[in-house]
Amino acid sequence: MKPKCLECHTPLLGRSDKKFCDNLCRTAHHNKIQHRENIEIRKTISILTKNRSILKQIFESGETIVSLKYIEIKGFRKEYFTQFHMVNDKMGAKHCFDYSYIEIEEGVIQIAQLVAKTEQV
Ligand SMILES: [Zn+2]
Repeated sequence: MKPKCLECHTPLLGRSDKKFCDNLCRTAHHNKIQHRENIEIRKTISILTKNRSILKQIFESGETIVSLKYIEIKGFRKEYFTQFHMVNDKMGAKHCFDYSYIEIEEGVIQIAQLVAKTEQV
C-alpha cells in the first residue's frame, strides 16, 4: 500500500519515510495538532481560573470556612488544583494559584491566601 500524506491523504511519491506531500501540508497538519492541544490547555486553565475566583470571592467576603458542597454549587471543581502538599501527617493543602485550602473535616474546607514572599533587595 502506498503511503499517503497525513494531511490531504494524497498518495506520496519519492522517499519511503515521507509523511507529507509538501511544507503546506506539514504546516497545516502541525497547526491542527497545536490547535487541539491549545483547546485542551485553555479548558483546564479556564477551570483553574474559575476555581481561583471562587476561592478568592469567598476569602474576601471574610468567610474562610465553608462547605465543599457550597463552593461546588458555585461551580468549584475540587479535582482541579495547581499544587498539593501535606500540611501535617493527616491533612493536605490544595493550591489554586495564590489561594489554598485544606479540608479541616469531612466536607468542610478552610481557605487561605498565599502571600508571596517579597524579595529583599
Ligand atoms: Zn498533502
